[in-house]
Amino acid sequence: MKFEELSLANPLQRAVRAVGYETPTPIQERSIPSLLEGKDLLGIAQTGTGKTAAFALPILQRLLDSGKFRSPKTCRALILLPTRELAIQVEDCFKAYAQFTAISTTCIFGGVGDAPQKRNLIRGVDVLVATPGRLLDLIGQKAVSLKKLEFFVLDEADRMLDMGFIHDIRKVVAMLPPDRQNLFFSATMPDEILKLASTILRPNPVRVEVAPQSTPIERIRQELYRIDKRRKGALLKELLAEHPEMKKVLVFCRTKHGADKIVRVLEKAGVKCAAIHGNKSQNRRQEALGNFKCEQIRVLVATDIAARGIDVDDVSHVFNYDLPSEHETFVHRIGRTARAGKEGVAISFCSPDEESDLRGIEKLTRVKIPEGDQSIYDKLPPPQKETAESMMRNSRGRMSREEAQARAAETRNKQGSHKDNRGPRGRKDNRNENRENVTVQNAPADNTPNPQNGGRRHRRNRPGSRARRRMRESQSQQQ
Ligand code: AMP
Repeated sequence: MKFEELSLANPLQRAVRAVGYETPTPIQERSIPSLLEGKDLLGIAQTGTGKTAAFALPILQRLLDSGKFRSPKTCRALILLPTRELAIQVEDCFKAYAQFTAISTTCIFGGVGDAPQKRNLIRGVDVLVATPGRLLDLIGQKAVSLKKLEFFVLDEADRMLDMGFIHDIRKVVAMLPPDRQNLFFSATMPDEILKLASTILRPNPVRVEVAPQSTPIERIRQELYRIDKRRKGALLKELLAEHPEMKKVLVFCRTKHGADKIVRVLEKAGVKCAAIHGNKSQNRRQEALGNFKCEQIRVLVATDIAARGIDVDDVSHVFNYDLPSEHETFVHRIGRTARAGKEGVAISFCSPDEESDLRGIEKLTRVKIPEGDQSIYDKLPPPQKETAESMMRNSRGRMSREEAQARAAETRNKQGSHKDNRGPRGRKDNRNENRENVTVQNAPADNTPNPQNGGRRHRRNRPGSRARRRMRESQSQQQ
């Protein structure tokens, strides 16, 4: 099928050509005709399938056809999305597709001042792309009203629920006029999402499913590396050094702190990289994303929530530095590569404590992830053992010494049975085996003064300055 065969007006056909699309993707082919007829749609589609154009083009066409005009402080189409990055990207798409029309678009999201957004709404807008929190905020301030709405799109519904937006969505839906066309998209369709969809869509919506639910895109080549947690950085560095073809690399990790740590490791190794996560300002996130898109940096490290909004073409490799505990997230992550018919590679690191997540992911995707190049382990520095000391340090005071000792012993046992417990040349590395016992045995079991160093407390076990001051005060009171 060709775009010309779809009943789209000339300005839209021109725009499609201008952005370089030749043939509609399957979701576009299957959605656009029904949407042009005014039907509601339930779409099960991953990002990268072309779903934005699948809903944007027919909405623009119907906005052009309707002959109505926008009124001040209202919008005619509302696209609700979970993250600001995604909202910006979807508005960019609308702008590109509407470039030869007089249709107006704007985008509102939190984390930035609301004054310019309110200004853009004063005269009303045809297409409003929004995140739920800021939308409700501006509705509360009477900067915009939904009473003239003709089209409502809820995109990334599963992620919306994951991010706790369900109440905000219900509030928005309650404000919508009954006579509207609804589009509901989600990458996965568990019962909870279906229930939500039934409260938004009119009966018997058209259902379009473009990839089997929770199945990774087949074009993605996958590799698995079983590796100790503390050697993941070294493995990532080594793989990047060995494979210059890894040009545009997206690395997923679980925590913001972890993302910053990976950036530090890679920067030390001379790899150009940046992190995006919730603690970074909107400007820093946009800058990092921009640099990644135009290949000024080779690696972008992201947490799942921040990454949800990333739409970057040609991501060559996706790394699961940490496996997600929510297994469906794995599908979203690796769907960032192999977009728009291109090839892609997804590489997953699995530490001993992530084995159960790996099993869950393989079960969900019905794919056994093949092991990567085993010779890489020989090139890594030997693993360092987790000691009771390091565990206590990492727990920042939340773990007692006994607990840390028990956990360290447990980790050592687990590592013993894990493939990655090898030093250079694949030999089992025993060098650090007893280090932990030495450290622990030398340290006093509690916070008593150590006779070996003249009665001073071990530095690591000394109370903090505020506690010391309190102790001094209570001693002087007692005296
Ligand atoms: P989406 O799933 O909407 O995030 O789109 C993923 C990528 O595919 C975006 O970069 C789009 O520009 C691109 N795309 C969408 N439709 C087409 C098409 N018909 N032909 C080629 N690329 C497309």
